[in-house]
Amino acid sequence: MAARPQPRILIVGAGFGGIAAAIELGRHGFTDVRILDAAPELGGTWFYNRYPGAACDVPSHLYSFSFEQRRDWSRFCSPQDEILGYLRAVARDHDVDRLLIPGRRVSSCRFDEVRAAWETETETGERYESDVIVLATGQLNRPSIPPLPGMDRFIGHSFHSARWGGEYDLRGKRVAVIGTGASAVQFVPRVADQAAQLTVFQRTANWLLPRENQIYPPLLRALIEHVTPVQSLRRRWIFNYGEALTLAIRHPRTVGKLVEARSRIFMHRQLPDPELRAKVMPDYTFGCKRVLFSSHYLPALGRPHVDLVTDRIAAVTETGIRTDDGRERPFDCIIWSTGFRASEFMAPMRVGGNGGRELHDVWERGAHAHLGMTVPGFPSMFLMYGPNTNTSGGSVIVYLEAQAAYIRQAIEHLRDGGFAKLDVRADVEAGSDRETQARFAGTAWTGCDSWYRDEQGRIVANWPGYMREYLKRTRSFEASEYEFTSLPVAAPAPG
Ligand code: NAP
Repeated sequence: MAARPQPRILIVGAGFGGIAAAIELGRHGFTDVRILDAAPELGGTWFYNRYPGAACDVPSHLYSFSFEQRRDWSRFCSPQDEILGYLRAVARDHDVDRLLIPGRRVSSCRFDEVRAAWETETETGERYESDVIVLATGQLNRPSIPPLPGMDRFIGHSFHSARWGGEYDLRGKRVAVIGTGASAVQFVPRVADQAAQLTVFQRTANWLLPRENQIYPPLLRALIEHVTPVQSLRRRWIFNYGEALTLAIRHPRTVGKLVEARSRIFMHRQLPDPELRAKVMPDYTFGCKRVLFSSHYLPALGRPHVDLVTDRIAAVTETGIRTDDGRERPFDCIIWSTGFRASEFMAPMRVGGNGGRELHDVWERGAHAHLGMTVPGFPSMFLMYGPNTNTSGGSVIVYLEAQAAYIRQAIEHLRDGGFAKLDVRADVEAGSDRETQARFAGTAWTGCDSWYRDEQGRIVANWPGYMREYLKRTRSFEASEYEFTSLPVAAPAPG
């Protein structure tokens, strides 16, 4: 029996990844595509992260699809509403917004070996069947709040930065911010403008580089808009800048030292107070954790009503936070900017493959996938922004576009060969995982703890190389790396 001429494709997640996949599939004639998302609309991380100052710290000329370049970005790194507006417009222009079924939080998807089909179920009981499943739920979608003693006793207001309570007025309040990562450095200067007293709790210092991000001056804006090559030149320049940052991370003892010196000088100049400066200077290799870009964060820490606390948090109390030294500080509001459960890809969704094996169990010793996309024993399943495809020096959109094209080619093979399913060869996946992990040796990423690692310390988030390498590796789908099976699939023996 030949496979269906139009494979039924289900995409889970309507962020940049899911939308990229839907566009790519639509452009190549796949018509049976649906997208599920838990949120009421598309956008993914850009739908949820609405904290004041939320913006991308990757310049928009690169943090946008190569096939949908805009010339009217308001600034170098666009704010959240502009990025969300861009994604909405792109989805509309490519007619994929109509494929979205919003408000559907997927609880499980299981592969039925007999029918070579994926059965997907949502928390509210809806079921969807598909021949192919694309899980584009991302790495940064589940906010993480550390389980500190006394958390539930706090009677003030509290929320995670990725779920900002817009209605809560910070003016005149005593505010605590826990965490000093990429999100916090964007909103701390804004909160400092409003709060009566702001205390920032830092566990680990971060390397910073400048980012003014002012609105484009009219002349530059006009140049980008009207002189065609300016746009593509800027994109190329930003791409190469990202690759240079990766070069510094890959070579921490040489190039890394130069960029570290640049960061040190910048941070030194931003903070005249030596005591404060000593607190914010990292003591680990440049690039091990995500490098932060802000020219506004350190000056905000220097304001008279802002405190930086580096003592460990011992407990949350009814009215505030107690640190290890026994000091208790009272707060009206606690903002958790403590990141995401990045290494628990897809959780709590349950994903069942051949023989009912749970992906969670297969990944017991750390997540891994061939090129971050395919896992042996999970036929016709593709991940987007899966294990080892995050970037520290580039744009994730570059990776997502590459993945969308790769997945589309794989599905073309499936369809054109009349196959029912495809499965990456276990030896191929194991080989590429070994190679990926080996490439971290000697790089800055191994120099400290970070959200790139899972609980066992394995680096599961990041791609160990350059954007251009990932593009090269994924450019053409290599059918020999996969096993293809035709229908009919043997029925199980009776009894
Ligand atoms: P994050 O970088 O993971 O930062 C979490 C912060 O919380 C860290 O400072 C961490 O300290 C601290 N923390 C965690 N548990 C703690 C505890 N028990 N006590 C005290 N501090 C604690 O999270 P994020 O800032 O939300 O950013 C996550 C990622 O999202 C970024 O790295 C980036 O990839 C992405 N992002 C991107 C943009 C953009 O503009 N493109 C903007 C925001 C976020 P330690 O360092 O000690 O763990």
